[in-house]
Amino acid sequence: MRATLLVSVLLTALYSSADLKSLVVIHTNDFHGRIAEDGRYAGAARIAALVKKTRAENERVLVLDAGDAISGTPVSTMFQGVPIFEILNMVGYDAGAIGNHEFDHGYALIDRFREVANYPLLSANAFAPHGDLIGDAPALIRNIGGITVAIIGLITDFTPHIITPVGNEGISFATPRKMLAAMVSAMRPQVDLIVVVSHLGHEEEKQLASEVAGIDLIVGGHSHTLVEEPVRVGETWVVQANYYGTHVGYLELLVDTDEGGIDELEGGLIIAADLPPGDPEVKALVAAWESRVAEKVDVQIAAVSRSYNKIELQPMLERILAIATQTEFGYYNMGGIRDVITKGPVSARHIWNIEPFGNTLVTLTTDGATLKKIMQRENESHGRVDKIVDNETYTVGTNSFIGAQAKKVYGDKVTVSDKGVLVRDVLIDHIRANGI
Ligand SMILES: [Zn+2]
Repeated sequence: MRATLLVSVLLTALYSSADLKSLVVIHTNDFHGRIAEDGRYAGAARIAALVKKTRAENERVLVLDAGDAISGTPVSTMFQGVPIFEILNMVGYDAGAIGNHEFDHGYALIDRFREVANYPLLSANAFAPHGDLIGDAPALIRNIGGITVAIIGLITDFTPHIITPVGNEGISFATPRKMLAAMVSAMRPQVDLIVVVSHLGHEEEKQLASEVAGIDLIVGGHSHTLVEEPVRVGETWVVQANYYGTHVGYLELLVDTDEGGIDELEGGLIIAADLPPGDPEVKALVAAWESRVAEKVDVQIAAVSRSYNKIELQPMLERILAIATQTEFGYYNMGGIRDVITKGPVSARHIWNIEPFGNTLVTLTTDGATLKKIMQRENESHGRVDKIVDNETYTVGTNSFIGAQAKKVYGDKVTVSDKGVLVRDVLIDHIRANGI
């Protein structure tokens, strides 16, 4: 016993005087404007409190966000995402990735987010129409208490297919793997640690780790995946912290500053309820922003005796769109349903959270074969697609996002007529009058 203890004390002394340095990494992703603490969602103030506490107790801390910070709540939507960065500044991030939803108000507004954010928004593979990089930089090298860390930002090259084309004409995305391989081999000799903040999705991130050697850690996002235990792929650790701040990632690393790389990694996710109480200053700023929207959204419109998940909500929302457009049926893409409805009073805010994008109501007319493709593109495998006849013409009530994407892909095969009203308002009015 004694001998073992002595050996371990000696080893610890040896390590700490030599090459190994500890580093805490805190990470979030797909926050989607959930600034206020609400049920399962931590809110910015509690995340900020964790960061503050961690920085007070540890010499080296790195705080990262993997993108989609905005779009999901009334404050985000009404003020086009800008206040979210103002609030996230108080969390104390070192860097963030740009996610697909940062393009929701057109790519030009990302410049405004960059101005407001006091931390760099990184993206190595997103390009404006004339080839300029969108974002502050592709990567960043920082010395954190003697550890040299490279942080590289990446976004899915599937982004053009999942963002509104409006305000995003002519932008392009390079293949993440190619871009990353070149950057990693150039940076590896200069740094102790390579971290990728990635808005690609968990499966793609694991794939990337298996294809590109030399990455130490991928802080992921986009797929909203609850990665309870960090996943090891070759020499790379891959993590992701669910979505909307239900969890915060917390990793303790021992970094080898002689050879480079992670010698040891511990940690995982902290659930919102286990975070320290909210930082009062952040709470005050969140409250100030929330008060600016409260009058409009904190109004009860219905009450429900049970909760509804997204699969249950989809046909209900589609029926409302069909009624509003007086069409055969409605189509509401599952990816556009951004929240659930929980038992109890339903307020306009809940509908804002379900439809934060501000899409308008449209009718879409096309042949059955094209309609099937439009619906299947959204990974919808409902039996209802089988009932559509290829050669028949259909007019469906849907949203302007689906209308614009369909027009972009199928051109003249699709006719879209915009009704000039917000889908959200249609839903609120219908639910107010008829309940759920
Ligand atoms: Zn995303």
